[in-house]
Amino acid sequence: SYNFSAGPAVMPSEVLAQIQADLAQSQKGHMSILEISHRSLTFDKIVDQAKDRLRELMNLPQDYEVLFVQGGGSLQFEMVPLNFANQKHQIAVLDSGNFAHKAAQAAQAEGVSAKIVASSRDEKYRYLPQLPADFSAPAYDYLHITTNNTIEGTCYHQSNLPQTTGPLVADMSSNILAEPYDVRNFDLIFAGAQKNLGPAGVTVVIVKKSWLAQQNVTKVGPMMRYQSYLDKNSMYNTPPVFNIYALNLVLGWVQDQGGVPAMYAANQKKAQLLYDYLDQSDFYHPLVTGADRSLTNVVFSTGNDQLDQTIAQQAQEYGLYNLAGHRSVGGFRASLYNAQPLAAVTALIDYLDKAQKEHQN
Ligand code: PLP
Repeated sequence: SYNFSAGPAVMPSEVLAQIQADLAQSQKGHMSILEISHRSLTFDKIVDQAKDRLRELMNLPQDYEVLFVQGGGSLQFEMVPLNFANQKHQIAVLDSGNFAHKAAQAAQAEGVSAKIVASSRDEKYRYLPQLPADFSAPAYDYLHITTNNTIEGTCYHQSNLPQTTGPLVADMSSNILAEPYDVRNFDLIFAGAQKNLGPAGVTVVIVKKSWLAQQNVTKVGPMMRYQSYLDKNSMYNTPPVFNIYALNLVLGWVQDQGGVPAMYAANQKKAQLLYDYLDQSDFYHPLVTGADRSLTNVVFSTGNDQLDQTIAQQAQEYGLYNLAGHRSVGGFRASLYNAQPLAAVTALIDYLDKAQKEHQN
């Protein structure tokens, strides 16, 4: 069977097998990863290896550090403004989807003014808003973007990234390591693990140290301060040990597959196959067109909400799970993250064809 969930999402089968094998060792008297201290040499090595692997996979320059934080992408919506919106007390947000919108609201709740500088909300986020020509970066502490809009299926790829002269913060939760980005374009990147990096429970933060050093965060408590994580190698308090261990295995798997270039090639192939099918279909319609299309979340519809639900539901009989679109969009959403095999897409297309024959009158 295949799992098309937008997250938590399918994990590489090799990694699941490794986790099972490692846990089985504990029955032979070894302490398992669920039981070891985070102050152990074993765990130190895991944290360092995970950081090194991410550093290598994303070509991180020396001035960038990798941190592991809990609280998901949602905590980052608050933590970033708390740490970085302390000079102008105002941030700019490109409102490209539900999660960008939530980020703006969360910043506001922390007492920071979040100015939506462009939005496609009125058009149900079907396309990507662009920075207005008169955007003035110096008026803001930073610009917040969501590289990949998980719900709406749109994406600012490296080739269509907004160009700003000021600091840029990216929520990369749903396409980190799925396609190449030049990290030097960003001052901070965050991503919850549960799509491309492992089980839910750890969030990767990549931060430019020289930018962090300029901040005045004396009024921010230690758990919400990036500097605490930086100073203590992400072990200011007890970190999510198992999650970081699993993330490290996934990063090793990505390296074994050939790194981000290989993931990107495979993801392009999967997405292209599905988009090509949808583009030629007289029954299913892709909801996003052109260069804005996401590689990792493909959204489409028959145009009939009830029928979409029926077809997504019946897919389970063919072993195809979690195809229903997000409730705000409806239709279908097929998530094609790194661990999703090409065979999942061919199985999906076969099924969509069958469903068309059954339901088209
Ligand atoms: N940002 C994006 C792009 C997401 O897709 C999600 C969750 O799906 C979030 C943020 C929120 O992440 P979390 O549930 O880890 O807080």
